[in-house]
Amino acid sequence: AAKEAGKGRSAVFAPDMDSAIIGQLQMKAELARAVERGEFTVHYQPTVELASGRLAGVEALVRWQHPERGLVPPLDFIPLAESTGLIVPIGRFVLREACRQMRAWHDAFPSEPPMTVSVNLSARELDEPGLVASVRDALEESGLDPAHLVLEITESLLLVDLPATMRALLELRALGVRLAVDDFGTGYSSLSYLEDLPVDILKIDKSFVDRIGKTGPDDGPAQPVMVSAISKLGHALHLQLVAEGIEQEEQVSTLQELACQYGQGYFFARPLPSDALTELLAERAGQFARPFV
Ligand code: C2E
Ligand code: MG
Ligand code: MG
Ligand code: MG
Repeated sequence: AAKEAGKGRSAVFAPDMDSAIIGQLQMKAELARAVERGEFTVHYQPTVELASGRLAGVEALVRWQHPERGLVPPLDFIPLAESTGLIVPIGRFVLREACRQMRAWHDAFPSEPPMTVSVNLSARELDEPGLVASVRDALEESGLDPAHLVLEITESLLLVDLPATMRALLELRALGVRLAVDDFGTGYSSLSYLEDLPVDILKIDKSFVDRIGKTGPDDGPAQPVMVSAISKLGHALHLQLVAEGIEQEEQVSTLQELACQYGQGYFFARPLPSDALTELLAERAGQFARPFV
């Protein structure tokens, strides 16, 4: 009877919830099939050295090439991939593909210093005992110098299980790869962990970069207080700084004044499929001082 009542209630009051659950189940089955069929592709967004306009590297960003829905952005499937564990094979694919692609770009477009490739890692991947071996395999298989691979982890992820996370990060660092804290400043965490963790790069979250050039409370330009503070903190800790989500030229000059060396954003380039980036590397010889989209 309880089952009957429950059924009746959901039919009357929560039809949307039922369809949402069915949608989730369907999506889960589709995602598992997508892993089997290899329906993922990697796009690459340039990171630019702000003072010179030189292309410093790229960030690998996964997309799902869905047979009917087209290109699905990561935020629409990464959470499900994490909760189902499918992020592990997906992440492994991104890592191998990004290392292979960067090695090919190094061969075709040598530069000094060589371009780096950044790969995002989620909490679920960092927990995976096989992660360090996957990274080592991707490096050996591609022949990419570990010094040119950056692994991005978010601040919130660093706080879940500090001793275990620390162990994994130290093992990754021992391979010679560099580590970046992604979306820095959004994790509401104690800052003290930054002194202890073996990280090399801070990526200043887009929400702080967005405030540069906005109007402040007194109608004058808003002071980019957080970017300035994060930049000082980064320098004190000898970390490299990358500003995320740069969309306007005036943000570039302000960031330079605040001693932020690197930037990434639609102002320079959107994430691009690998062949489009290859064309761009050929045309521009690595110079991204001017926007092109
Ligand atoms: P993220 O690592 O912080 O990557 C930056 C995101 O901001 C990308 O979104 C990028 O397209 C977007 N972006 C860059 N510049 C601008 C800009 O100027 N304006 C605006 N509005 N957006 C900009 P995308 O590709 O949709 O990725 C979203 C998130 O999904 C990533 O954030 C990352 O957390 C996650 N993700 C992407 N690929 C992977 C992956 O291979 N593995 C894992 N675990 N997570 C991934
Ligand atoms: Mg990232
Ligand atoms: Mg980010
Ligand atoms: Mg982000």
